[in-house]
Parts: sequence; C-alpha cells; structure tokens
Amino acid sequence: MDDCLFCKIGRGDIPARHVHDDELCFAFEDIHPQAPTHVLVCPREHLASLAEARPGQEALLGHLLAVAAGIARERRLDAHRAVVNTGAEAGQSVFHLHVHLLGGRPMGWPPG
Ligand code: 5GP
Ligand code: ZN
Repeated sequence: MDDCLFCKIGRGDIPARHVHDDELCFAFEDIHPQAPTHVLVCPREHLASLAEARPGQEALLGHLLAVAAGIARERRLDAHRAVVNTGAEAGQSVFHLHVHLLGGRPMGWPPG
C-alpha cells in the first residue's frame, strides 16, 4: 500500500526505532508510548485490521504474537499485555494491522 503509514515504516521510507525485522513482520517502538515498553508488531503484508484476516493467515497471526512474546521475554517483562484494536470505536487509528506490546507498569482491567 503506497499511502499506508505502517507499510512505509516497514519499507524504511519513514524512520522508526525497529526492534525486530523478519520476512513476515516488523516491530518498532510506538511514537507515543503508553507504558515503559510499547512496541507495535505488524505484518509486512498490508491488512487493514484483524477483521481482514482470512483463512490461511493463521500462521501469520500466530507469528505476530510469538514475536511480541519474544520481545517481552528479551526485556524480562513477566507481566505484559498484547492488544489489537480493531475498528475506530475500539481505538484503532492506523489501519494496518498491529499488535501493541505493552509492559513495564501495572495495568488495570477492564481497559478503557
Ligand atoms: P491504534 O490506535 O491504531 O491501535 O495504534 C496506532 C499506534 O501507532 C498508536 O499507539 C500511535 O502512537 C502509533 N503511531 C502513530 N503514528 C506513528 C508513527 O509515525 N510512528 C510510530 N513509531 N508510531 C506511530
Ligand atoms: Zn499498510
């Protein structure tokens, strides 16, 4: 997608602090962190949201979670949260699928 912010970050057209890159996904520090660790994990393939995921993409979706868990492990975050906002009403503001990895502070439940 030519005009997608996260596709541009994935290609390196827009700078970001990358913390992981592989053939299926990339991860970078959120520009407005909501916790001491706030990393976004995105598929390289443009999917507007989790709602766009289709049969056959289960391994990709699992990989995003596995990468998030690996980053949490590297940072020794015993407690952390992986969040996928889907749809504007749920707080999604960038329409390229991403998993938020949040950690490093206590977190309340339910989320706002
Ligand atoms: P959403 O609201 O779609 O669930 O999450 C989008 C996230 O992307 C937000 O947490 C926001 O701070 C982050 N974000 C938006 N623009 C940029 C940017 O240009 N660079 C980085 N690193 N993060 C961004
Ligand atoms: Zn995109």
